[in-house]
Amino acid sequence: MRLSRYFLPVLKENPSEAQIVSHRYMLRAGMIKQSAAGIYSWLPLGFKVLKKIETIVHEEQMRAGHIPMLMPTLQSADLWKESGRYDDYGQEMLRISDRHGRDMLYGPTNEELITDIFRSHVGSYKDLPLTLYHIQWKFRDEIRPRFGVMRGREFYMKDGYNFDLTKEDALHAYNRHLVSYLRSYERMGLQAIPMRADGGPIGGDYTHEFLVLADTGESEVFYDSAVTDLTFGDREIDYDSVEQCQGVLEEFTSKYARTDETHDEALFNEVPEARRRVARGIEVGQIFYFGTKYSEALGANVQGPDGKQSPVHMGSHGIGVSRLLGAIIEASHDDKGIIWPEGVTPFHCGIVNLKQGDDEADAACESLYQALTAVGFEPLYDDRKERAGGKFATMDLIGLPWRITVGPRGLKNGVVELTSRRSGESEELSPEAAVQKIVEIYANHQTGRGF
Ligand code: ATP
Ligand code: MG
Repeated sequence: MRLSRYFLPVLKENPSEAQIVSHRYMLRAGMIKQSAAGIYSWLPLGFKVLKKIETIVHEEQMRAGHIPMLMPTLQSADLWKESGRYDDYGQEMLRISDRHGRDMLYGPTNEELITDIFRSHVGSYKDLPLTLYHIQWKFRDEIRPRFGVMRGREFYMKDGYNFDLTKEDALHAYNRHLVSYLRSYERMGLQAIPMRADGGPIGGDYTHEFLVLADTGESEVFYDSAVTDLTFGDREIDYDSVEQCQGVLEEFTSKYARTDETHDEALFNEVPEARRRVARGIEVGQIFYFGTKYSEALGANVQGPDGKQSPVHMGSHGIGVSRLLGAIIEASHDDKGIIWPEGVTPFHCGIVNLKQGDDEADAACESLYQALTAVGFEPLYDDRKERAGGKFATMDLIGLPWRITVGPRGLKNGVVELTSRRSGESEELSPEAAVQKIVEIYANHQTGRGF
């Protein structure tokens, strides 16, 4: 993409309504624009990152054997009346009536709808196990929408639902989700720690929330600092293996890590004092096993091998896709702007032309642009007639992890400069070597073209 042809409405001033750094930078970098309280338009740069995150979530869900689909945002209230949640959900639910006076709602979550689909089409244990998911906009009329996309009213969420014959099978689905979530967050360059949580209005005995540690997080968390040493890394996992998935769950959840709702002071005090941490975190996902709560309410039964009918065991599992943009920025920025992890960066690298209009500089930038594009990358080429300082400030603000700087002085010696946004370190290389270096850097990150 050539910046002169892109739509990147960068703001010079700090917007006064933004209280936290991610909100401030998302507005300043022209990623989002508020349309109403807690409701945003996703401008091209924000949309691109949103889609990169969504793609990682899809790829990891499908790798775990979960099946994508799409349910609508608007739902009829009937199923919610059947499950009893139409009254329970309270004012967070946006209730609408259509021209015939029928009660509708903008879905805050989808347990009822998916259970209805299940009961209409599945009746036998032979069709299990089954995990269906979708990534769709949700609406919750939050009492205090704030912090930009972190606590929106309209937000983008992956929600998945497992259907199993027995509790053991459903717990394997729970573990499988835990593993796939660990992989997903790591691919986004994030550490999200599974912490024991509270069932809340969805209910459930088994539940973990995934938290990104950040001072601006809304949850208070208590943990053994040893949990922050755990990484999933590039290990291979067989998602059908009960032992392997259970092993990962045990490894990642055996150390003390809880949110304030489930915090137990006596247990916490058993952690060696030097490793006890009280901090704040951003919830970026949650997994639940809730048994037969919805299948009983909605009559979703399956026939077992013995011929007997019993309610199907279920769980639901969510990832806050739009909230993740804020969480990643909270975890990865400096005083100049965002620092995107390679896995989610909107463009793979920036190209800054120090002397636009100089024939040699223009030609070198053009050929770098072509070479990177030819090997499947998306560079953002700042081809505007602007001062170098202004171009650097824009690149730093929008946070591309790598920048290639091209100027007449370097070109005399046959070199361009490759700079890491994270470390600030630069090296001089030939243009061909710079392209090669970008290829190597991204070899470990499965990031395709964005939108
Ligand atoms: P919270 O406690 O932050 O209100 P929740 O526990 O009600 O969230 P879940 O029902 O677990 O949310 O939804 C799954 C995920 O969706 C959450 O882990 C979070 O990342 C995201 N999410 C929930 N509410 C919002 C919101 N208002 N804005 C943006 N993302 C949200
Ligand atoms: Mg939650």
